[in-house]
Amino acid sequence: MSFSTDVKEELTKHIPGPRHCALAELMAIMHFAGYFGKTEDDGLIIGFKSDNPCVLRKGFTLWKKTFNIESAMVLRGAEADMVMDKFGNLSDPVDPVFLKSSCCRRAFLRGVFLSVGSVSDPDKSYHMEFLCENEAQAMQLKDIIRDFDVEAKIITRKKYFVVYIKEGSSIVELLNVMEAHVSLMSFENSRILKEVRNTVNRRVNCETANIKKTADASSRQMEDIYLLRDTYGLKNLPEKLREVAEVRLEYPEATLQELGEMLSVPVGKSGVNHRLRKLSELADKVRG
Ligand SMILES: [Zn+2]
Repeated sequence: MSFSTDVKEELTKHIPGPRHCALAELMAIMHFAGYFGKTEDDGLIIGFKSDNPCVLRKGFTLWKKTFNIESAMVLRGAEADMVMDKFGNLSDPVDPVFLKSSCCRRAFLRGVFLSVGSVSDPDKSYHMEFLCENEAQAMQLKDIIRDFDVEAKIITRKKYFVVYIKEGSSIVELLNVMEAHVSLMSFENSRILKEVRNTVNRRVNCETANIKKTADASSRQMEDIYLLRDTYGLKNLPEKLREVAEVRLEYPEATLQELGEMLSVPVGKSGVNHRLRKLSELADKVRG
């Protein structure tokens, strides 16, 4: 199952207690993913444009909870008028009167995410988005997200106004606002794992590169020294060079620093480097 589906499953189970919150969430679902249809004899039917089972489940649960309206019911007369009147034009933003309290704005965000939201798997990338059908709704959503100190951006994609968030920390914040706490934990876990993995990889790559560099240099030095041994004779080298040549042959994997410490009169890295370069120049002379 995708992470997005996990979040929606979690949000679906989250049934608001107070009626004001239930109403705010229902408003969001109806405005972003609902429609009102008419039967032939002018009855009002409630439907959803989304085929996501979470939207249908949550939507009808909230209709039952707020207005005691069952899913298959056709509304007529005063009841139909009341509903039409309360919800207004569904392609308009939700009436701000329903979004006064912060608890209701959280509920609104839950409803919008269920209806048109998605979030990518945190193992892959950090991206959360909401596909809005018109600009006014996208603006309202962006404003309400900003109320919780999260910056969202809007781009157009085909006929949609896409409200999106890219930062991992902002996605965490919004999951927190929507009270999707289980999803938040799993998002954070994979974010931490990814960071640890990246750091370890960087370190391993760096160490591997260093080891390879040391090994390459060492094998060049050994070649030179073997050549000098076989042509010139190590015992004929100046004392300081002979000693470095001998420890190099004996400890092919040692760093310059370590070689320097093994000498009878220890020298630093640059001292060892200097002597090895001398040896290599001698070897070049022999070759040339
Ligand atoms: Zn509320």
